[in-house]
Amino acid sequence: MQEVEYINVYGARVHNLKNIDAEIPRNSLTVITGLSGSGKSSLAFDTIFAEGQRRYIETFSAYARNFLGNLERPDVDKITGLSPVISIEQKTTNKNPRSTVGTTTEIYDYLRLLFARAGEAYSYLSGEKMVKYTEEQILELILRDYAGKKIHILSPLVRTRKGHYKELFEQVRKKGYLYVRIDGDIREVTPGMKLDRYKNHDIEVVIDKIVVSEKDYTRLKQSVATAMHQGDGLLMILDTTLVPRHYSKRLMDPITGLSYKEPAPHNFSFNSPKGACPRCRGLGVISQIDIEKLIPNRKLSIYEGAIAPLGKYRDTMIFWQIAALLDRHGVTLNTPVKDLTDDAIDEILYGLEDRIKVKSTLIGTSFNYFLTYEGVVKYIRILQEKESSTKEQKWAEQFAKTIVCPECKGMRLNEEALHFRIGNKNINELSNMDINELYDWLMQADGLMSETQKKIAAEILKEIRTR
Ligand SMILES: [Zn+2]
Repeated sequence: MQEVEYINVYGARVHNLKNIDAEIPRNSLTVITGLSGSGKSSLAFDTIFAEGQRRYIETFSAYARNFLGNLERPDVDKITGLSPVISIEQKTTNKNPRSTVGTTTEIYDYLRLLFARAGEAYSYLSGEKMVKYTEEQILELILRDYAGKKIHILSPLVRTRKGHYKELFEQVRKKGYLYVRIDGDIREVTPGMKLDRYKNHDIEVVIDKIVVSEKDYTRLKQSVATAMHQGDGLLMILDTTLVPRHYSKRLMDPITGLSYKEPAPHNFSFNSPKGACPRCRGLGVISQIDIEKLIPNRKLSIYEGAIAPLGKYRDTMIFWQIAALLDRHGVTLNTPVKDLTDDAIDEILYGLEDRIKVKSTLIGTSFNYFLTYEGVVKYIRILQEKESSTKEQKWAEQFAKTIVCPECKGMRLNEEALHFRIGNKNINELSNMDINELYDWLMQADGLMSETQKKIAAEILKEIRTR
């Protein structure tokens, strides 16, 4: 007969456990019973399971552990006879509206890690592959591409931002630089120089003007180093074609100069502001006012209640505003909506830029009012916001419909995240695969990856494949 094996727990003190010992037979079903609060979960989940999980994670590669973090050892003297454990969650399932079947699994976490480490970035502006260089490589590229040419070496300081930049020019002058490039034109830096503060500007400082040749290698090297320093890892080369090229230590689009931050796993998470689509905040859908619900019957006039949320005419500000607005189109509140021009309906729904004149005769006062009018849609939108009461939100909700987010097309991530690819697939395309497809893809992913990617990805792929 086979001897019975045990899991032995010595000195468990997690939560309210009073330094207890326990002996639990292995390979059999054990039920732990007791009063509520007596420590059943503390023993089962927080001690035995926690320790098993911790030991399991310890067997992971350094890569995965780095990502998952080390688990804390539960407060217990010793547990023997433990094998890697799985636990069935005690809690009810997570009702987070962001989770879907494809994304609740840990596989998505591994994909995020894979993309952060091995994804190739493409520019969402030009579609170009993003590149980053070391200072040495930049130097080599300049020597190769601009040999014999006269170039300006520039450090970008301001990228499409408003301001007069008086202090900036003063600093540049004090550092001893004579020229700057402002909105594409090279100009001498003069004392008290400033720009139109209400306009967007691009400003670069001219670090050096040089004819590229091997004999001036030392000077070129020095200037590149200075330019990289002044430009915070970024420089531009301008030759006689006057079309600058960008070189960067960070990921950068060589055509447009668009740069991405070094990707981390959270950049690929729609639960993180770093990765989420800014329009739908990672939900993939947005709520939009449904015009059909706002104006369900176009045969009615506004006076008769054509605009559902406003109802029939009352002596209130919004009706006066709409009356004044319609007056400019030569119609009245009694005109059926179907006879209004599209422009007039647009103004009623979305408001006007300029103030409208509410005539004294309309509201029975002795002088005219000038009012801004923001439109019925905005009015309902405000009631939809979190700051409004639940009642107001519910009321506003009846005029809304849920549509797929037009910015991310329901993919929930921001443009940057969606432009990292491995073998021509972005993370969204991979997470939409079913588990078999994904497995097949991973099995042949080696062939799609560059040597560097392969090395980085190998560890993580191993983890996924063994699942
Ligand atoms: Zn979106």
